[in-house]
Amino acid sequence: MTVALPLVARGKVREVYDAGSDRLLLVASDRISAYDHVLPTPIPDKGRVLTQLSVWWFDQLAPVLSSFGASHHLLSASDVPAEVAGRAMLVRRLEMLPVECVARGYLSGSGTVEYQRTGSIRDVPLPAGLVEGSRLPEPVFTPSTKAEQGEHDEAIDFAAVVGAVGAERAGQLRELTLALYRRGAEIALDAGIVLADTKFEFGLDPDGGLVLGDEVLTPDSSRFWPATLWSPGAAQPSFDKQYVRDWLTSSGWDRVSPPPELPADVVEATRERYVTAYERLTGTAFR
Ligand code: ATP
Ligand code: MG
Repeated sequence: MTVALPLVARGKVREVYDAGSDRLLLVASDRISAYDHVLPTPIPDKGRVLTQLSVWWFDQLAPVLSSFGASHHLLSASDVPAEVAGRAMLVRRLEMLPVECVARGYLSGSGTVEYQRTGSIRDVPLPAGLVEGSRLPEPVFTPSTKAEQGEHDEAIDFAAVVGAVGAERAGQLRELTLALYRRGAEIALDAGIVLADTKFEFGLDPDGGLVLGDEVLTPDSSRFWPATLWSPGAAQPSFDKQYVRDWLTSSGWDRVSPPPELPADVVEATRERYVTAYERLTGTAFR
């Protein structure tokens, strides 16, 4: 489904349209990606879940942003073309900063690998004996580069962030990322969800103000675990795409050739996870 606006960029999951010199329209599709591939099978309603959840979080996080003199980019989720209604956001066009701002409160995935090799995550030393799924003593800022399309994001240390945006901005990004993570994790835990980690992207408005952009605290940008089932020591059950990753692995796919179609039951179980995350977090039914 196309929109009658100039296409600025097409990512694996979203399309970005020009909505005026100072505005963009971000449209989330039902495409799902895993291991840097877009799967051939869409997940019904995924685009709407991601968009509605981001919209809800922008509102929740506004007080944290304003306490840092920052803001978010959402202008409207209703003033959008009818053909993408529900899965599009009209946002302020920003000059994006070249850093993906990741916060981790729990050890998982590449964080576990890094910890097992070095005993730290980036420049943050951690106690011995942590395992996959462990809660960290304090959340840590683990930035990465914002890779060009088709490239992998690369882990960087804080010094590299300073090199990219300057010391003052880097410090601000780290503190704001951790504050947003803490608030998000607190809200999620009240809803029975562990926010294990997440990624934020920030940009600058024309006046140089710091603005939270992109999508926020969605199952595509975060790890969400059901709190009652949290049990460190192995991979955690999750409301994100770990389920699809696990199915792909068990299918014997080599992660190089075109990925296989997902069977109908895997599609439905994945959709269910996205919708459940939305409903638990927001406390409202997804229609
Ligand atoms: P992929 O997800 O396929 O790896 P991607 O991250 O480039 O690629 P998307 O996430 O689908 O693709 O596209 C969103 C793009 O829009 C990102 O590059 C993001 O940094 C950018 N973006 C998000 N919000 C804004 C904004 N307010 N102003 C300008 N650019 C934005
Ligand atoms: Mg992206």
